[in-house]
Amino acid sequence: MNQTIPVIALAGNPNSGKTSIFNALTGARQHVANYPGITVEIKEGKAHSGELTARVIDLPGTYSLTPYSPDEVAARDYLLEQHPDVVIHVVDSSNLERNLYLTTQLMELGVPVIIALNMIDIAEARGIRIDSEGLSRILGIPVIRTIGNRGTGADELLQKALSVAGERTSWIPIDLSYGQSSDEALKILKMKIREAKLLGDMVPPGWLALRLLEQDSHTINRVEKLHLPAGDEILNLSADLADGVFREMNDETEGVIADHRYGFVAGVVKRVKSKPAVNRVYLSDRMDTFLTNPVLGPIVMAAVLFGLFQFTFFISDTPITWMEEFFIWLHNIAWGVLPEGFLRSMVVNGAIDGVGGVVGFVPLIMFMFFFIAILEDTGYMARIAFLMDRIFRKFGLHGNSIVPFIISGGITGGCAVPGIMAARTLRDPKERFATIFSVPFMNCGAKLPIYALLIAAFFSAHEGTMLFLLTIISWSFAMISAKLLRSTILKGESTSFVLELPPYRLPSLKSLLIHMWQRTWLYLRKAGTVILFASIVMWALMTFPTLPLDRASSLTGNELAQVKLSYSFAGRAGRIFENITKPLMGFDWKTDVALIGGFAAKEIVVSTLGTVYSMGEIDAEESSSLSERLANEAGWNPVMAFALIMFTMLYIPCIATVAVIKRETRSWKWAGFAVVYTTGIAAIVSTIVYQIGMLFY
Ligand code: GDP
Ligand code: MG
Repeated sequence: MNQTIPVIALAGNPNSGKTSIFNALTGARQHVANYPGITVEIKEGKAHSGELTARVIDLPGTYSLTPYSPDEVAARDYLLEQHPDVVIHVVDSSNLERNLYLTTQLMELGVPVIIALNMIDIAEARGIRIDSEGLSRILGIPVIRTIGNRGTGADELLQKALSVAGERTSWIPIDLSYGQSSDEALKILKMKIREAKLLGDMVPPGWLALRLLEQDSHTINRVEKLHLPAGDEILNLSADLADGVFREMNDETEGVIADHRYGFVAGVVKRVKSKPAVNRVYLSDRMDTFLTNPVLGPIVMAAVLFGLFQFTFFISDTPITWMEEFFIWLHNIAWGVLPEGFLRSMVVNGAIDGVGGVVGFVPLIMFMFFFIAILEDTGYMARIAFLMDRIFRKFGLHGNSIVPFIISGGITGGCAVPGIMAARTLRDPKERFATIFSVPFMNCGAKLPIYALLIAAFFSAHEGTMLFLLTIISWSFAMISAKLLRSTILKGESTSFVLELPPYRLPSLKSLLIHMWQRTWLYLRKAGTVILFASIVMWALMTFPTLPLDRASSLTGNELAQVKLSYSFAGRAGRIFENITKPLMGFDWKTDVALIGGFAAKEIVVSTLGTVYSMGEIDAEESSSLSERLANEAGWNPVMAFALIMFTMLYIPCIATVAVIKRETRSWKWAGFAVVYTTGIAAIVSTIVYQIGMLFY
């Protein structure tokens, strides 16, 4: 890291326009930076002005520096550990009160701050006037008016940031009053902390004192980890002092302190903001009277979602065909170019077919993410969360859980990888974990080919009804699972978080495209890494060890393929599993091999079934002949097929999902739990389906 390049960090509430400002400053050239100990991705770019260059960091959106969500932890840890030279605090001017709360916390930290009074156009359109010079004077902070999506004010902002960063002033925390009893407690704590030199230069003593008085668990952990006698002493002292304040004020210190911050903000806002005399009913409010209406709201919501997904399938149909044709072309080219042998087989049957099956869905995924981005950027997603909150609460979840559920395949065709990442907006860890472990039950795009195949083979008279039924079933399992987890290992109060209802906004195309691209990229990266690797491993497991020549010579065609497979590692594993799965759920060894392959990616189940049922190379989409074959196969019947559908819906999430669960929960233990939990439920459910079904069949 070059110490001479100044570092500008962008902080602000979610949706305040940080990314827009970041793009305006850097020209949207960015890369994702990794910092030790910070798992949330942080974007970084460079800004130039004349001779000067600065590194610009786009921190995750935060409402406060008292961390509740991983995003907030990441933002705070970045500020503390990386010590940027200046923070540009992007403020949504149309929501000044709520945004300035974070300002007070940045000032408590003492980092040099510049306020970008963003979305000033929206504020003005609503008749809100803000005296930016007054604000700057009262806070002692430079304030610059900006319109992020148009880049207005970005130059001035950069100049100012560079000049402040260039001074490299030391951090000077503001000394707010939090009421007499807290102030006294803080004074004592601060003195002790300074004496003990706790956490060294990294953290201003006043700030640490405040955190400890708030009894902030992250900070307490940090001090505990130091294993210093002075640290333990200070922790005991802070607990006593917090207790004292509690007895005096009859409220937790965290609440007392927050109240004073809000009071400070209210005072500032009163002096700098003027509203029009008549309080207009804004368009947003008027729209909300019917969009969040308890009767009309859900009807509109269902119509909007249904329409969006129908449209997504409709417009992605042709591009998906192109992708398929492309991979067929690539398959044929590679087959022609490479010499016969293991290499050709590995590249074509392993890598190209495996990755192609996943990448083929990219157009669908892309359009879907585009529409989800529209829902988010217009503010409508917040209304959906609001409407769903009452129902979700009954299952121990939060209204905001709806987003991960929809992205993961709530209306069929999503992907759990970005879905699980979307759970970051949940602040309560238990609600977040319950969401993370339940979304893999949703019908992601990769399960569709399996359903399509089995429905065509055994339930062809009721295709539409079956798909609808499967959607309902997957939702039911996800919700019941959430309830189960929340009343056992993730037991706890549901958070009483107020759902934010941001004003409706016309989204900008650029921001939509960026959001869409970020999620699509995640999906592509999964295809290029995990799935590529897993496809090759599966190929190897199904190819080696090879059949001894003397046994192979007497066989040809399908029979040969079958015997070869049965002799391979995968075939042998399948035979072992068959002992359990055959009596319980009716799955033979070939089905088991396909299910093992499904761990790499569920798309692989269909292609593996194609191979094991000796149809040569079966493409996931062209499975009509395979379905006929399965319909006539001994041991296959509608009951077993339905048990298999249930099993694929519920069992082990794919490798990419397990990897992202590990990343988001930061623990292999939880990732392992997800595997055992989902597969356990799948085994139980499909056994019940098969055993009861067979009684009547
Ligand atoms: P972030 O979540 O803080 O990164 O916010 P984004 O940069 O993604 O912005 C959220 C939405 O607000 C996008 O649709 C932007 O185009 C829009 N936006 C950003 N700045 C402004 C602004 O100054 N005025 C208006 N009208 N819209 C803005
Ligand atoms: Mg952003």
